[in-house]
Parts: sequence; C-alpha cells; structure tokens
Amino acid sequence: MLKGQLIAKASGYVSVAVHASSSGRVVAVEEHPVPHPSGLSAPCVIIETDGRERWVPPPPPVDYTRTDPSHLRNLVREAGIVGLGGAGFPSFIKLNPGRGRQVETLILNGVECEPYITCDDALMRERPREILAGAHIMRHALQARECVVAVEDNKPGAYEAMREAAAKEGDVRVVLLPTRYPQGSEKQLIQVLTGKEVPSNGLPIDVGVVVHNVGTAYAVYRAIRWGEPLVSRVVTVTGGAVRRPRNLRVPLGTPVVHLLRECGADFDRIDRLIMGGPMMGIALHTWDVPVVKTTNCIIAATAEEMPPPEPPMPCIRCGACMDVCPVGLLPQQLYWYAQARDLERVQAYNLFDCIECGCCAYVCPSRIPLVQYYRFAKGAIWAQERERQKADLARRRHQARQERLEREKRERAERLRQKKAQAARAPQEAVRQALERAQARREEARRRAQEQARERAGLARERAGAPPPPPSSGDREG
Ligand code: SF4
Ligand code: SF4
Repeated sequence: MLKGQLIAKASGYVSVAVHASSSGRVVAVEEHPVPHPSGLSAPCVIIETDGRERWVPPPPPVDYTRTDPSHLRNLVREAGIVGLGGAGFPSFIKLNPGRGRQVETLILNGVECEPYITCDDALMRERPREILAGAHIMRHALQARECVVAVEDNKPGAYEAMREAAAKEGDVRVVLLPTRYPQGSEKQLIQVLTGKEVPSNGLPIDVGVVVHNVGTAYAVYRAIRWGEPLVSRVVTVTGGAVRRPRNLRVPLGTPVVHLLRECGADFDRIDRLIMGGPMMGIALHTWDVPVVKTTNCIIAATAEEMPPPEPPMPCIRCGACMDVCPVGLLPQQLYWYAQARDLERVQAYNLFDCIECGCCAYVCPSRIPLVQYYRFAKGAIWAQERERQKADLARRRHQARQERLEREKRERAERLRQKKAQAARAPQEAVRQALERAQARREEARRRAQEQARERAGLARERAGAPPPPPSSGDREG
C-alpha cells in the first residue's frame, strides 16, 4: 500500500473517495471508534505504516485553464476533498452551481468560527500563494465573477500574508472583518460581505454565492497541480492540559493520542476532550479515535478550564436565548417542541436554519443543553425522511409494477384480438379466390366456345360452295 493509494471508492452521490495517508500494509478492515457524537464505532481501514512515506506515482499535472469545469469537479471528487472548515460536505458538489445558475461571488472563508481554533490562521500565514492558486481553480470550476477572501481582525499575520499574495495576483479581494462569533458560519458571512440574505431553507447559491474554506482551496490546489489526494490536514492541538499547543499537519487516520503526546499533553489533567471548538465541537469518549477530514481542532481541557455542566433547570421563558440567536430563531420554542418530539412544529419554527452555534445554550440561565435537543430533533427528522423516502420508493415501485402488469395484459388482449380477426378473415379470402378462379374458368370456356363456333361456320360455308368472306384489309397485297 502506497501513500495516496485509493482505499475506498465513493459510493453515493454525497460521498468522496478515501486514500491511504501513509505507505505500509493494510492489516484489517474492521469496526473502530470514530469521532462522532454518538460515540459509536464505524468500519475503518487499519494500515500498519512502514515509516517510508512512499507515494503513488503522481498523475501528469493539469492545466486548469484548459480543463472543462465538470472534469475539474470530477478530479476534486476523486481526490477525496471535502469542506475542511468542519462540515465535511463534498467539495465537488459545492463547485457545481447547477445548470443556468451564475455565481457572482466565490468567498474563501478564513474566519475561524470559534475560540481555540487557529488551523486556518496558520495555513493562511504559511501558504497564502497556494490558497490563492486553489481559489483560481475553484473560480474557474464555478465560472465565478469575483473572489473574496474573508479574514477576521484578530489574525493580522494571516491578513497581511493573504493581502500581499493577492496584491501580486491582482483579481482577488482580501477583506478584514471584525471578530464576532459566529461570523464564520456561511449565511452570516455572506450577509456581512455581500449584504445578501440566504432564504430560509435555501442555499448560498440561491443568492449567487458559494463559500469554501481556505483549507479546502489549498487541498484543491494540491490535487489539481500536484495530483495529491486529501491525505492530511492542519489540526490545532490546544487546551489547558497541553504544554505545547500548536498547529500540526497530520496524516488522516493518526490516532488523537499521538497528537496529544506530540504536544506534551498532561493526560492526568485532561477532564474533557473535544474535537472542534468549545461551542460547536463534539466530546470525544476516547483518545484512540483517528483524525478525520473534519478534525480542525483537538481541545484537551482541564476541569478548571471547562467545568462540567451543572444540571439543567426548567425553562423560565426569560427570552435570553432569543435575543442572542444570530439567525433570528425562537430557541425556546424549538426546545419546547424538540423535547415534546413534535417534529412538525419544530420544523415549522425553522429548525434547519439553526447553525448550532450554541449562543442560546451559552446564555441560558437554566443551563439547558439546547443544541443537543436541536441535534436530536434534526436526527429524528432525517431518520423520518429516510423512512418516508424508502416508503415512497416502495410505493412507486409497486405502482410501476401494477402499471406494467396492466400494460402487458392490454397488449396480450390486443394480440389475441388481431389473431382472431385474421382467423375470421381467412375463409372469406379463400372463397373470394375460388370465385375468381371459377370466373376465370368460365371466361376461358366461353372464349373457346366462340372460337369453335367460328371454325364450324367456316367449314359449313366451304361445303356449301359459298364464296369465302372478303379478305380483311391485312390480307390485301400491293
Ligand atoms: S434562555 Fe433558557 S430559560 Fe430563557 S427562555 Fe431560553 S431556554 Fe428558556
Ligand atoms: S444554536 Fe441557538 S442561537 Fe445558535 S442558531 Fe441555533 S437556535 Fe440560534
């Protein structure tokens, strides 16, 4: 097994390929703990690395300016690239605006969503030119009119690096934004940068905008220019229990415990282990989970740093959650209906517009873990939707089968009718032919009878000495 070798093909539409992140030997394909809120395991490919980092031979470089956008999207898909900002949505889908849709603005998101996370900051400081090269490729794939890079003002180094690189290129704007949580979320960023509001239940493309993370742009550059699939990413390793917090470029699949050791973590002091940020991250139940494509940050927090949540109290309808919601939702109503498992009502209150920023839970005086209720409700709705789609599919298949059986029955009946009509027509045809034959025979007999009568009349005249009848004009000579 070589580094960069394909180990899992994309199966459905919303999926991408997986590649070996190091050279070595596949020793197992088995269930293994993965970073997921459920804490459940998932099938994983286990590679015993040989430490030699032997790459697969690279494909010839691609000149993206002469490549069709759909082929570029395909290359991005085959390289296994997903959104590296944390959502993990396949990037090739977001690089496809859809038929007849014009992309006005491509936004490169360099706005780190939450405190602690600095992986994008590090990447922008160290690889600004490569990020911009990726932006040009994405812009070509989208045929976008303009490209804007957004950076928060608490990252002056990243802003300067990006601005300097962009000044050489000329056609990319780098915009400095005030640091405000949760500005890194797509819809908020679009509103701040363009003044456009993405409609409820809509997508950024509905307002002519596409947003990609700066890390994704870098991965696209590596894939198209150097033929490298996504096999590593930058991860922030931090928290009170980490002695040397830093950003590391990590091969995917590396166990989190290796990162903690590398950064001098004091394992005895780790009280909570979080993947992602303190607001939207997920708690890890073990440090044996691997780094995955969406692992942007590992926080090893001490008990003093993030004290365990106190038991929740009943909602007092104070409205504090509503005041802070950046999307303008009614978090207490969402909570109420999610708790009651009233999935219709919770959707009517626009649950799917919730970006799970955690602001409502943060200010709630009753310490209600509101986001957990929203995640639960979303999961239940998705499960219900999957069931509905399955039932719909079964109904459509049954309907199609009934229609096919009906059609075959009608066709059989028609064939039978035609056969009978043919059989009924057959005797009539025979009679007609016999009559024709009889008629022809009669005609022949009449003709012969006339000839014989003429011959007999000639003989009779000869015997009686009568002069022969005058010759016809054809008998005369001269
Ligand atoms: S902040 Fe908490 S207590 Fe206040 S209304 Fe919202 S959910 Fe209820
Ligand atoms: S998590 Fe709370 S504050 Fe954030 S978008 Fe959802 S409802 Fe609004």
